[in-house]
Amino acid sequence: MNPRRGSGSATRPGLALVAVVAARCTGCGACFATCPDHALRPGPGRPGGGRPPMVLVDVCTGCAECVEICPSDAIEEVDQ
Ligand code: SF4
Ligand code: SF4
Repeated sequence: MNPRRGSGSATRPGLALVAVVAARCTGCGACFATCPDHALRPGPGRPGGGRPPMVLVDVCTGCAECVEICPSDAIEEVDQ
């Protein structure tokens, strides 16, 4: 299974600005609270618990605040 989630952007649909590496996510929730545009939503649950975020591709502006706040380096900027 591909651990990355999220694709697309408001300006370039289909291309991701940030991607979540679900395997690194601890489910701390910091990114949800940090995103100024509410572009992150809990993704599907997974075995062992936790719901890694999914990126709402039409809302994310690519500000990267979630990248900075994540203590697990589970969100990465994606080259365009
Ligand atoms: S801040 Fe990082 S570890 Fe915490 S829920 Fe978001 S992606 Fe997962
Ligand atoms: S890059 Fe910015 S707008 Fe996009 S999900 Fe992260 S905090 Fe939200």
